[in-house]
Amino acid sequence: MTKLNETSVQFVKGVGPARKKLFANLGIETVEDLLYFFPRRYEDRTQMTPLNKLRLGEFQTVTGKVIARGGHRSWYTKKHVYETVIGDESGGVHCIWFNQPFLENYFHVGEYVVLYGKVEIYKDRLQMVAPEYELISPDKDEQYLSMGRIVPIYSLTRGMSQRYLRKVIRLCLDRYARQLPEALPAGIRQKFGLFDIGQSITSIHFPEEPESQQKAYRRIAFEEFFFFQISVVMRRLSIVRKKGIAHAIAPDLMARFNVSFPFALTGAQQRVIREIAGDMKKDSPMLRLLQGDVGSGKTLVAFFGCVAAFQNGFQSAIMAPTEILARQHFENIQKMIDQNETTSNSKGPKIRAALLIGSLKKEEKDAVCQDVKDGKIDLLIGTHALLEETVAFKNLSYVVIDEQHKFGVRQRALLSDKGINPDVLIMTATPIPRTLCLTLYGDLDVSVINEMPKGRGKIETKFFYSDHAQDVYTLVSQLVKSGRQAFIVYPLVEESQKLDLKAAVASFHHFEKNEFKDFRLGLVHGQMNRKETQTMMERFKKKEIDILVATTVVEVGVDVPNASVMVIEHAERFGLAQLHQLRGRIGRGLHDSLCLLIADPVTEESQARLKAVLSTTDGFKIAEEDLIIRGPGEFFGRHQHGLNELKIANPTTQLDILELARKEAIEMTSHDPQLQKPEHRDVKMIVQKRYPAYLAMVSAG
Ligand code: ADP
Ligand code: MG
Repeated sequence: MTKLNETSVQFVKGVGPARKKLFANLGIETVEDLLYFFPRRYEDRTQMTPLNKLRLGEFQTVTGKVIARGGHRSWYTKKHVYETVIGDESGGVHCIWFNQPFLENYFHVGEYVVLYGKVEIYKDRLQMVAPEYELISPDKDEQYLSMGRIVPIYSLTRGMSQRYLRKVIRLCLDRYARQLPEALPAGIRQKFGLFDIGQSITSIHFPEEPESQQKAYRRIAFEEFFFFQISVVMRRLSIVRKKGIAHAIAPDLMARFNVSFPFALTGAQQRVIREIAGDMKKDSPMLRLLQGDVGSGKTLVAFFGCVAAFQNGFQSAIMAPTEILARQHFENIQKMIDQNETTSNSKGPKIRAALLIGSLKKEEKDAVCQDVKDGKIDLLIGTHALLEETVAFKNLSYVVIDEQHKFGVRQRALLSDKGINPDVLIMTATPIPRTLCLTLYGDLDVSVINEMPKGRGKIETKFFYSDHAQDVYTLVSQLVKSGRQAFIVYPLVEESQKLDLKAAVASFHHFEKNEFKDFRLGLVHGQMNRKETQTMMERFKKKEIDILVATTVVEVGVDVPNASVMVIEHAERFGLAQLHQLRGRIGRGLHDSLCLLIADPVTEESQARLKAVLSTTDGFKIAEEDLIIRGPGEFFGRHQHGLNELKIANPTTQLDILELARKEAIEMTSHDPQLQKPEHRDVKMIVQKRYPAYLAMVSAG
């Protein structure tokens, strides 16, 4: 049988070598590409609205004859204006386009057209501004694809018409649809009454009725979810079926751990510690995702695992995404080690922790690595420097990865491979909505810290337009006078880095001489080296600086409880998650905190983002809002997570299908975790093709 992904589109009737290039413009090289070139939208042309029944303010499809047409150049806007009047038996509608002079040769009086657009009233007449347009062939045979049915509307390239593309796709379907390779096992299709692939693709292009179109999309979504979930579930199985360390956890260990802090643990912290302890006791490796908002106290919870590993004579590791964060973990954990009586055992001294980051001198790094290898270090904290080949552990049994979405699954595996199938805890401060969690982290068990420590001040968020920025600075002055510290954050993005940096530095100098001349100011930005940043952060922490002007480096990590004011300049330029993270830098102490957003939002998206941060401090609600605003692909980097392979399936809106597909994937792999049975060979091949990286890890592991 011909392979559709190897058959050039030029062999489809009506294409040929010349038009092949047009298709290439649309990314269509093969017959398979063409069949999977789905409509951008549909028009229901089964019943056209008579022109005297048009609904104002709504997008709708209308048809009629061109009654009058003409173009001219507007004398005051200098724009080219093209107008037509379209009429049917019942009435007429006026259409107008700007700057599309080529339309003068497109419409002719007496021709039939279909238009799609919003109908408005302008100077007492019905008008559509720049509607989408299509000439209808007078040839009845050709009309059957364009009239009296639900009609697909495709993205086009210059020189290609809807009419033409529809015809080519129809011919292509007639010739090749039956040869489309079926990916979904027949049993699963029967079980859920899913279309076969040919039927699906046909119904997506030329649905007989709305239901069959929806059914077709659901089937494609199911397929995408199914194979994605197979890869996720296989990865999980390949890890949890290994033999790891069954840690012994003394009954009183948790109790003693919990009481050795100057504060009481929250209920959520205690619950998650129990969940982690439960996993660590088992000999199958833990794979757990710990979600909790910024400041919810995840580090302490993660640290319990280090204590448990230590009490069993094993090493542990914590990997963080930045040096600042790694250093901060190290300092906080060193403090916990000193305070906590569970961090020593009968055999000897307290947990010995070390820091390993890229900026250490080579001798220092070598020394740490040697000690880790010899087992003289019990807990190694660091950045991705931990992943380097020179880092080898004596007996690593517990691994913590902070801010998981900054690392990929591969890096997770790299670190785990340095241990004895260690228990792995992944921490994220970006709450992940349930739908995405199942999709991306379907291989992980999930723990949530959904409770903030008591005795923290409230965070209030306020919004100011930039022409009221002085009010913000006055407020900041008052608060700093009363002993608080403040951040003033400026955006810095790659595209406009130089300008952004200049703006931040200029403001800093301006503040120094004006608004904040009585205070001690500090400046940190991305162009400073690590040492300078580090020193500045230390000084801020020690209260040698009152106001820290910064570009987004403060986004992760810094913990300065006395800093209770966060000013975000040009807040409209920050993403929602970033705004939430920045705000998480304050509200860490006893004082009430204030987050002041200065912004002039113009786009709908930026308005939506600001509205969301102003309305809630709940990280999960923010994340869900963010997901809606940005869509799942942008929410995390697409690439790292295989979301690229989800072209039709949308985890946000199709949770029901995702759950069904996931159940089937679990079912299939539960009897055959490596998919070695002959009846599963095809499924395995498809997963291998679509998710090669994931499966490589499975077989390597
Ligand atoms: P996260 O990592 O979740 O952002 P951290 O673990 O850094 O949060 O905790 C933030 C701060 O809160 C730390 O200074 C920590 O000592 C403190 N903390 C943690 N748990 C509690 C608690 N139950 N009560 C009061 N303070 C806590
Ligand atoms: Mg274990």
